[in-house]
Amino acid sequence: MSELVKLGLKEASEKIKNKEISSVELTSALLERIDARNENINAYVEVVHDKALEMAEASDKRIKDGNARLMEGVPLGIKDLFCTAGVPTTACSNILKGFTPAYESTVTKNLWKTGAVMLGKTNLDQFAMGSSNETSAFGTVKNPWDEERTPGGSSGGSAAAVADYMCLGATGTDTGGSIRQPAAFSGIVGLKPTYGRCSRWGIVAFASSLDQAGPMARSVEDAALMFRGMSGYDPLDTTSADMPIESFDENLDDLSLKGLKIGLPKEYFVDGMDEDIKKVTYDAVARFKAEGAEIVEISLPHTKYAVPAYYIVAPAEAASNLARYDGMRYGQRVEGENLDDTYTKTRTAGFGDEVKRRIMIGNYTLSSGYYDAYYSKAQKVRALIADDFKKAFAKVDVILTPTAPTPAFKTGEKVSDPIQMYLNDIFTVATSLAGLPGISVPSGMVNGMPVGVQFIGKAFDEKHLLKVAFAHERMTGFKPLDVK
Ligand code: GLN
Repeated sequence: MSELVKLGLKEASEKIKNKEISSVELTSALLERIDARNENINAYVEVVHDKALEMAEASDKRIKDGNARLMEGVPLGIKDLFCTAGVPTTACSNILKGFTPAYESTVTKNLWKTGAVMLGKTNLDQFAMGSSNETSAFGTVKNPWDEERTPGGSSGGSAAAVADYMCLGATGTDTGGSIRQPAAFSGIVGLKPTYGRCSRWGIVAFASSLDQAGPMARSVEDAALMFRGMSGYDPLDTTSADMPIESFDENLDDLSLKGLKIGLPKEYFVDGMDEDIKKVTYDAVARFKAEGAEIVEISLPHTKYAVPAYYIVAPAEAASNLARYDGMRYGQRVEGENLDDTYTKTRTAGFGDEVKRRIMIGNYTLSSGYYDAYYSKAQKVRALIADDFKKAFAKVDVILTPTAPTPAFKTGEKVSDPIQMYLNDIFTVATSLAGLPGISVPSGMVNGMPVGVQFIGKAFDEKHLLKVAFAHERMTGFKPLDVK
């Protein structure tokens, strides 16, 4: 294996800019790594060898001409939920097999404008619904730390590709935890930005009031650089925030931890929680304390309603968003005897079980007579959850929690029990409902598997959040996966 694949994203872009290595060399090394590993790990559902090398050549030419850009020549994996012009985009569902978009999502367009290179499209839970990558129509993904375990989901392909050195960074999307939980399971960094930071335009919609794209990488600095490359205001997305793009990757080390107020929500540390997860999280707390941070117990009293509220709001929006897959406009069609029959046959054959479950839940909760009892109530709970965070952030600068209730579980362990699977999102969904940024950073090892902690920040305070995460990373000294 070429040592080039182990380079950090920022490090690699600097080496390319200094002409120590070329993008073509680096891209070829990564394609080789993918060719050697992907058959087993299944992180990519499409590898674009020719396009990657073309993009790398263009990058090397820009270097030669003295026109280097921010992330010049750096090869990335793209979650197969982002539309990529001329490259198939499936959301890992049979219903979109054969669909090749004519346009590029804003986030990926932004990345290519910074000089980054696309290696291919990564596997995910079908339509991003799941926590283990097991709902993908392309088969599940193996966790490179232990191949019997899941890398988490829904951005499981991206997480495994980053952890296993099949790219330097990858895009993820997070509706209720899909960047943070797979990052925690796979020993990498994953940032879910504030809702509105990254444009949703051209990303296959799951739950539009929650969906947010973000970076996944092997270090905080790399995630910060990628975030800088992908974020920004977009008039094509009406919920896009008109905020300046900051130099998120710079001066990450200038935060003094003395007096930094870190909130620990008592509702996230309850009897019966996994002892190993508790220990890893408290170890992180102790390290911050030793450097002078102030630890403050806070309360987020509506936390217990976050999972039920999320599993009403998200399926309701999903049911509406997925109405467009009728066999007429995109992907697969199964001809029926008449129009209605064609719709039914197409959707029956095209959607997987978990997607169907969400559509049924969503249509039920939105139907007249049930709307007030479920959807409208869940929206009220959502407001209360957001209010809990507002009150907490009057007292603290950042909140620290576990990312997931357990380390990576075994493939097959939870797939037949949706409630067990949904409970995996217990520490991530509240942040999503409140639209706040959250980052998962590796924090320790339990029985050979990595475990992450989550830092939650104030809205649009990612720069500060990244600095806290960077300090944590420095104190933890976590070692990425060791491969030969
Ligand atoms: N696991 C959650 C779900 O299944 C979150 C998914 C996501 O964030 N895309 O809905």
